[in-house]
This record gives sequence, structure tokens and C-alpha cells, in this order.
Amino acid sequence: MSHRVVIVGGGVCGLTLAYNVARSGLPVTILEKEGVVGGLARGFQYGDFSFDIGPHRFYSPKASIMRFISEVLGEESAEISRASSVHFLGKYHQWPLRMKSVFQLPPTVSLRALIDLINKSREYDPSNPSFENYILGKYGRTLYTLFFKGYTEKFLGIPASGTHANWAKIGVERATIDEKVNTASIGHIVKMMLIPRPREMTFLYPPGGVHKFCERLRARLQEMGVEIRTNVMPTALLSTDGEIKKVVTTEGSLDARIVVWTAPVNELCQLVGVPDPDLHYLSLVLYNTILKVPTRQKVQWCYYGSDDIVFSRISYPEQFHHSMTPRYRGSMCIELTCRRGDERWTDPEREIPRIRRDLVKVGAIGSESEIDAMHIERIDNAYPIYDLGYRDKFKTARRRLEEFRNLHLGGRTGLFWYNNMDHSMNNAFQISKKILGNTVEEGLKEGPAARRVLEEMEREGASGPLAAGGPQV
Ligand SMILES: Cc1cc2nc3c(=O)[nH]c(=O)nc-3n(C[C@H](O)[C@H](O)[C@H](O)COP(=O)(O)OP(=O)(O)OC[C@H]3O[C@@H](n4cnc5c(N)ncnc54)[C@H](O)[C@@H]3O)c2cc1C
Repeated sequence: MSHRVVIVGGGVCGLTLAYNVARSGLPVTILEKEGVVGGLARGFQYGDFSFDIGPHRFYSPKASIMRFISEVLGEESAEISRASSVHFLGKYHQWPLRMKSVFQLPPTVSLRALIDLINKSREYDPSNPSFENYILGKYGRTLYTLFFKGYTEKFLGIPASGTHANWAKIGVERATIDEKVNTASIGHIVKMMLIPRPREMTFLYPPGGVHKFCERLRARLQEMGVEIRTNVMPTALLSTDGEIKKVVTTEGSLDARIVVWTAPVNELCQLVGVPDPDLHYLSLVLYNTILKVPTRQKVQWCYYGSDDIVFSRISYPEQFHHSMTPRYRGSMCIELTCRRGDERWTDPEREIPRIRRDLVKVGAIGSESEIDAMHIERIDNAYPIYDLGYRDKFKTARRRLEEFRNLHLGGRTGLFWYNNMDHSMNNAFQISKKILGNTVEEGLKEGPAARRVLEEMEREGASGPLAAGGPQV
């Protein structure tokens, strides 16, 4: 019987998992459809200019995850203070929004926003699970209309009223409105205006780009004997008695004892004959732009909410680390969202004239002549789309997939999870524990000897506890 653990997807989750499992002596193969590992945490290089996929930084509230990141990056990491902004009503504001920003709006607008903040609970309907209802209840109609609605609809391409509140709970709140802002009462609002600015949040960043993390992990895995097959995709998963026994790929097939799927869950459903879950992902087109001059913005990234600006975010690689851009030059990663196969995806060049004009309009560049080159990259499956029914659809698919006892779902696309890299690492640790028994303590202690693991697996036999670890959806 083969004891091979087959991991589909060589992103942060797949690589972290392979690292934990391989340390225990089990044979591991990673199948990755791209030519490089890293997934959404990979990078691009054009001469001396390095780019990530939008803004990418390492942060976790969990000390064990931060230790793991530092362990992988070694000396290669810098601690950077976060600086981000948002552009709306023709002006730049600090992001996360602070109360100060509300008072920088035109007086009638800020007055309306303040009255809303006091009356906001009147707008909230507890039985409505939408993004719109959630934001109305939390920040009021003025801020919702001014920023949240436009940005979300432009970004996701679906109405805010048809978007699930979890998009706000996970996405907006993770990194947006100042955590110290409590708008529950007028007393709190006045207090907030008087309290000093909180300390900047910091994050870790590897000089040269975020992809260094996955590259270093890949090098370690290869030393440990993990087989990493790039440009390879599974074409069939053959099962008997409720277990997947063979993974057929675009380049031959391999026997498997355990299969971990970190690629899009709808592709898995198709391969194993589970009905299409009707879950969809948003893709990105990146316009990695090289300037002849230094950039004007001194933030790491900026959001653009208004729908008369074509892009939704710009990030500035040299603000993450000076190694990303040569001296006296500038670079910008400009993000436009789309669906795979739509007009923007198939013909991204069409947007270039509008992007160039809008860059001048928002003052990101002084004139179009500052642009030296634009490199277009398409990023598939960048975000899960949280429509109103996504949780039930995912739960139904997951229940069907759990009928395969040796199959785990993991990572961002596997779990249809709007997450960050640290969550994917944590998820990989959880899955390793499930595979190896409770032997991988926070993913940092050595795993058990191969024989012990294999014996445990033999004992588990057909009733192995192979439900996926992951978020409660
Ligand atoms: C624009 C943007 C900015 C972000 N910023 C941050 C940030 O600042 N900090 C942070 O922590 N996180 C950030 N994230 C999130 C972070 O990138 C992800 O959480 C993390 O990289 C997910 O890793 P993963 O391994 O779970 O998934 P993925 O990276 O999606 O990995 C899945 C892998 O499976 C491969 N694959 C897909 N289909 C197949 C197939 N059929 N066969 C074989 N392989 C397949 C893919 O190529 C990919 O390598 C950001 C994400 C985006 C899109």
C-alpha cells in the first residue's frame, strides 16, 4: 500500500503542510499547475524591478505562526510600519479610516456621517445577512454610500445587497476601520476625537519580495526529498471503498494514501463527481507599472472606491522594501478585478489608456510620459465571491466531499475562504495534526518517526479521521 501524501497546490498552505508531513518521514508529492510554487504569494521580476501580487505582508496575532515565518525567512526579513490610504471624493485619507477623516470631508457630509453614526442602529435589520445591511448598521448610510458600496460593487462585481456580511466581517474589518473606533454612543465619539493616535501596526517583509518565503520553503522541501511537480494538474481522482487511491495527472498517475486539496473546491467537485457547488472566484489583472521617476505616494497601498476610477487598488513595491525598485525609479502594482474569461481577462490591453488617464486624474503620476512600461499578469482564483448563499453551498459540497475518508480540503481556494497567508499556514498545521495524530505541536516541534506514523495510519485504517481542518463557515 502506498503511504504517499499527495498535496494538490503548491501555495503557502500546500508547502507548509508538506514541510510538517515530510519531517515525520512520510513520502510527499506536491502537484502545482503553475511553473512556480507560491500561488497567490508568488512574485514577478522584470529586470531589476520586483513585484508581488498586490500588497502582501506577513502578520499573525499568533506567536507560533510568527515564529514559523521567521524560521523560514531566517535573517531575510525586515520589520516595516504599515502605511495605507484610501481615495474618495477626490481626496486621499489615511486607512484604516480615523475619525479625523470624517471631519476632513465637506462639512455637510461629515455632519451627515456623524448623525448617521449616532442613529445607525435604526438602519440595521438583524434578519438580513447582507453586506449592505451590516455596514449600514455599523457605520451608517453616509459612509456606506460614500465608500463601502462603491468600492465593494466595483471590486466584487455583484451588488452590495447581494453580498454576504462575512465579506465585511472578514475583509473590511481585518484591516480597515480603526479597531479603537467605537461609535456606539456620542460619548465614545467625543472620547475618540481626544485620544492620541494608536501605535502603527508593523509587519514582516522579506527583501526582494514575498515570494522569498515560498522559495525558501521549496528549497528546504527539496532537501528533505519532497517531490514537487510543477506544470502538473490532476485529471482524475480514482476511488474505491470511499477512499481516493490513485491520482491521475497530466503527467502520469500516482498512488496515494492521503490527498490534500488546496486548489479551487469546484475543480475538485468536478473531478470526483460531486454536483457543481455554484461557487465562484474573482480573478485579477495586474498592471505592473515601471516609472521613469520615483513614485509620489509614500504609502504601501491605496484603495480607490469611486466607480469613475478604473482600478481598485495601487500598491507601491518600494514602500515594502527598497530592494524592490532601483534607486531614483518608481513602480506600481495596479489591480483590476474580473472573472476568468470575461472581456478584461481575455483582452486586458484595452484598459491601458483608461488606466493611464486615471493615474493622472488621481495624482498617482504627474503625466502619462512618466510611465516607462506596463507588464500585464493574470491571476486566477484570487478571491472567493461571498454571495448570500455561499455558506450553504460550500457546506453542502463539503459534506459530499467528506464521504472520501482520506481527502482533506485546505487553504484559501480549497476552503473557499477569504483568508491571509498566516491563516493558510495555521490551517496547514491543523491538517498535519489530523494526518499525523497530535504530534505536530503548533507545527514547530519535530514530528514522530516515520514508522510510528505509519503504524498509526495502519491502525486508523478505513475509519481514519480525515475531515478537513479549517474555518467554521
Ligand atoms: C491581492 C492580494 C493581496 C493579499 N495580501 C495579503 C497580505 O498582505 N497578507 C497576507 O497574509 N495574505 C495576503 N493575501 C492572501 C494570501 O495570498 C493567501 O491567503 C495565501 O497566499 C493563500 O495560500 P494558499 O496556499 O491557501 O492558496 P493559493 O495561494 O491559492 O494556492 C493554491 C495553489 O494551487 C494551485 N492550483 C490551482 N489549481 C490547481 C490544479 N487544478 N492543480 C494543481 N494546482 C492547482 C495554484 O496555482 C496555487 O499555487 C492576499 C491575497 C491577494 C489576492
